[in-house]
Amino acid sequence: MYELIQAGKRTFYMEGYARAGIYVFGKDSACAIDSGADEHAGLALLKHLKSMNLRLELIINTHSHADHTGGNALLKKETGCAVYAPGAEHAFISEQIISPAFMYGGNPMPELWPGFVSESCKAERLSDAVLPEGLTVVSLDGHSFSHVGITTSDNVCFIGDALTAAAVIKKGNLPTLYDVGRTLESFDTLDSMKGVKLIPAHEPMPDDFAETIALNRQKTLDMIDLVRDICSTPVSFETLTRTVLDRTNQNANMVIYMLTQNTLKGYLTYLHGRNELEYFFENNTVMWRVKK
Ligand SMILES: [Zn+2]
Repeated sequence: MYELIQAGKRTFYMEGYARAGIYVFGKDSACAIDSGADEHAGLALLKHLKSMNLRLELIINTHSHADHTGGNALLKKETGCAVYAPGAEHAFISEQIISPAFMYGGNPMPELWPGFVSESCKAERLSDAVLPEGLTVVSLDGHSFSHVGITTSDNVCFIGDALTAAAVIKKGNLPTLYDVGRTLESFDTLDSMKGVKLIPAHEPMPDDFAETIALNRQKTLDMIDLVRDICSTPVSFETLTRTVLDRTNQNANMVIYMLTQNTLKGYLTYLHGRNELEYFFENNTVMWRVKK
């Protein structure tokens, strides 16, 4: 746990539930890319930085999910570093209540918070102007509001949750996403990044990224087909959710149910935007069906 691995001349990553990166710039400065899943990961990252005599200047989060921002607050408190995140993600990090409220779609019950919340930590919107020399931002959007990858001058790219591990997909699980179209575009971007060492946040490092990207793309296309197929006869959102959970062999608990519904709304918006699905009201229930 928390082993530090060198990925390039200036680039390291720390193992853990969610990998965090360290990029060395200037004389003795460091930029963290994500901060691990919790404050234990943050503490471990701080120890690695100290052992290398590096000063943490900033953290860049690939996105706002709690398992990527868990070390932010501790690192900011201990080092005074700045925290940046792309687009709307910086608001989610600054005010952690937004995350469970967004997932639940209203005032979330307190027992639903833990999986979605890390300690609130004031973050600023990421812009090119604040990037250390040698880092570039690549849009790998779709998984969340404004998900990005961070590429280093020594050809490493921290891709956050832009890919789901092959083993998870083969188990039949439904990868969480916000925007279907942008997710598909991100798979194309990843395919085009030849010669770049990709570092995903979770699960074992794939031997073959091309295969993992292809699996992710196919899973997304299969889900589009599945939603369209289920809506070939009019269904309510609750029935759609239950059918998807059944067909993807999941045993729902409240968190899985919320993540599934949140992701399915992305699929419905995508298919509605393509004029393939429509909704109507029946007995005060929203029903979805394939558009004739
Ligand atoms: Zn995520």
